[in-house]
Amino acid sequence: MRQSLAYDEDVGEFSPPSATNENLTCDFLVAGGGLSGLSAADAAIRRGLNVVVIEKGVYGKEAASGLSAGQFLTGWAKPIDVMITELAQQDMEKGVYGVQAHRRAERRVRAFLRRTVEGCQQLEELDHDYNLRASVQHGACTAAITEADMASLEAAYRFMEKSNLRALMPLADKRRPPFFEILGARQLQRRYGTAEGFYAGGVIDRFGGSFRPRKFLIGLARALRKRGVRFFQHTEAQALDFADHQMTVFCGNGATIGANTLFMANAYARHINGDALERAIFEYDYVVEVELPEGAKTLMAGSVLSDTRDPCFYARRHGRRLYMGYEETAETSPEIMRDVARRTLEEGKRVFPALGSLGDRDIKNAWSGRVYYTLDDYPFVERRHGGRVITFAAPSDHGNSLALRIGQLVGNVVPRSTSQPKNEADERQRRRNAEQLRLFESFPKGLRLRPGRRYQEAAFRDPEPPVVVSPAKTSVRNRSA
Ligand SMILES: Cc1cc2nc3c(=O)[nH]c(=O)nc-3n(C[C@H](O)[C@H](O)[C@H](O)COP(=O)(O)OP(=O)(O)OC[C@H]3O[C@@H](n4cnc5c(N)ncnc54)[C@H](O)[C@@H]3O)c2cc1C
Repeated sequence: MRQSLAYDEDVGEFSPPSATNENLTCDFLVAGGGLSGLSAADAAIRRGLNVVVIEKGVYGKEAASGLSAGQFLTGWAKPIDVMITELAQQDMEKGVYGVQAHRRAERRVRAFLRRTVEGCQQLEELDHDYNLRASVQHGACTAAITEADMASLEAAYRFMEKSNLRALMPLADKRRPPFFEILGARQLQRRYGTAEGFYAGGVIDRFGGSFRPRKFLIGLARALRKRGVRFFQHTEAQALDFADHQMTVFCGNGATIGANTLFMANAYARHINGDALERAIFEYDYVVEVELPEGAKTLMAGSVLSDTRDPCFYARRHGRRLYMGYEETAETSPEIMRDVARRTLEEGKRVFPALGSLGDRDIKNAWSGRVYYTLDDYPFVERRHGGRVITFAAPSDHGNSLALRIGQLVGNVVPRSTSQPKNEADERQRRRNAEQLRLFESFPKGLRLRPGRRYQEAAFRDPEPPVVVSPAKTSVRNRSA
């Protein structure tokens, strides 16, 4: 088994220089070279801004975005009813009560879900616009472990249906096809090659799907460089200063970058945001790659499946390659990696009987990705200093689609002082985008509400983690870090 830092894909290198000891200026500085950062850079360059992206490590090798399992999904790690209850609770703390608080929470959840669908669509658009050839395919299956999980999944999709998400499906023969399909246990088994009786059923989400993450990320970075975005790696934003209305970012390698607006794209630096200290908790998530046995029917009906466990089991098929993930740990080493890979393959064999003949030596590759856990329940955006410092902070579960969409919203609302709207339509779009971004600005933060169990465990590992009352329902979560 080989331990690698990234996909063994035919992607080529993207190796921009470091900005060591340089003095640079730009309209819009993005710190963090993952999907949220590149998506913001794309939106901003389309507005004619002068954009710089800095990455503290190596592009495509540090960002979760370049190492992920390659699913994109609608929704969020939490069941919809839990989200509604928590958001309503937040309103009640502010003095909004009863039905009004509940309705408001429902509206916010609907808006949230829409943003994730738009993120799925944006992924496809970027792939198309820049000809990235990242094998984007629609149709992501979430499989339910228990009947209760299945009921929760169904309820989630019924809520989405009532939220009119179907209107976002592209027209086919002048009508909009349904965006999801519910599968019984046998249907799932037949179509996806899962073991008899393993899953209680599942849902195929046609907004969600699969893609090749590293190919996408590196291709997008290259395309943006051609359009004029300046990229630097090994350049970590560490401190920020305002003087005479000029913002200056100081980097660990001695680079000094003057900018009108800074976007911390899921990149936290303690001096830049004091609150961020509590968010910078690292964990490792794994991807294991095997070659499918000849003729295996695994995932024939769709390229990607994840389930309702926490952390979930997930698998993506690309040709004869199968990428699987199942575990997260607080640290990694070659030994831990080997053990995780072995256990992941064992789980894969329980889920997909066609893998039965594979052993350790058939593991082609395995790697872990560093993810930034936070203590916050929801992804949120903060704008400070008149909107000139924008922080996107997210529990790492926020996933690929939301990262893309939030980045795009940020790139679209970069303040007017930096770029004037081109016309009235542009002005209207900016206003709409600013409203959409505001949703994330008001999401619950930190320890005010009950933070996710995993984040608490990560934060309070030593001494004993606090006792947490789990929500009544089994959590139905997206593929996450
Ligand atoms: C192994 C693995 C599997 C996953 N599988 C899936 C999946 O199948 N589906 C899904 O939806 N999600 C998945 N995720 C989660 C998903 O990858 C993330 O939610 C998403 O990529 C986050 O994108 P981002 O741009 O916000 O953050 P990141 O991709 O983490 O990018 C942040 C970047 O900022 C850089 N940075 C940090 N601090 C600084 C600084 N001070 N200055 C400059 N740069 C800095 C980091 O090095 C990093 O490159 C997975 C994650 C991992 C690790």
